[in-house]
Amino acid sequence: MNITKRKTIIAGNWKMNFVDSLKFFEGLSGITIAEGAEVVICAPHTFLNYIGADALKYGVAASVGAQDVSAFGSGAYTGEVSGEMLKHAGASYCIVGHSERRQYHGETNELVAEKALRCHENGLIPIVCVGESLEQREQGKTFTLISKQVSAILNALTEEQLNKTVFAYEPIWAIGTGKTATAEQAEEVCGAIRNRIAKKYNEEKAETISILYGGSMNDKNAVELLSRPDIDGGLIGGASLDPIKFAAINKAVETAGANV
Ligand code: PEP
Repeated sequence: MNITKRKTIIAGNWKMNFVDSLKFFEGLSGITIAEGAEVVICAPHTFLNYIGADALKYGVAASVGAQDVSAFGSGAYTGEVSGEMLKHAGASYCIVGHSERRQYHGETNELVAEKALRCHENGLIPIVCVGESLEQREQGKTFTLISKQVSAILNALTEEQLNKTVFAYEPIWAIGTGKTATAEQAEEVCGAIRNRIAKKYNEEKAETISILYGGSMNDKNAVELLSRPDIDGGLIGGASLDPIKFAAINKAVETAGANV
């Protein structure tokens, strides 16, 4: 983790879980948020317009994020929610290209790039997820695949938009499985994402972009993962539903910073 050059982000992904947000933020009150770090809660769309206020009731400084955005701006797209609507509902971040969307909804690299663009057009910071399946890892395809996923984003965004983009390396085999990538594996791929950005721009630029790790991060493994120089935070599913675990992960940012 490099706390001087880029922002550390601890983002919870509540997925489609019904969380009592008042209870959750009550459990987080008094949470330690390291200097320069930001807490983001990516909640279902229907929660977005009240969870920011719920967090404030308990003195928790949390930004609000969505979990998906329509690739379209507006119009006859029944069931879709636009970037403008997410912003209006209080979101400042939005996950795009989560593996569950790529897997269950057939989202391609190109569609994910369109969604990242809709985020930028509406003042939302996209958290772009990339990651390989176990089979792809075993076949030695991890780095080619990640490079393709990242390139689609780099080719679509302007430099200015990239400056306000966050990447998350989420190996599919580690999501919701209790299997975490080792800190070495996570660091290696986060480093490869940074190198890909440096190749298109330069190292100075790459050093400013936050790259998170996601995949069964929890209160036990957070310090080790967050101590790595190329890992700038976490995207956390299961452990973000439990305020005690989520608070411990946030506390780990300080400990990890001290370990760097
Ligand atoms: C996720 O959904 O982005 C995720 C990383 O989930 P989990 O932490 O449960 O593996």
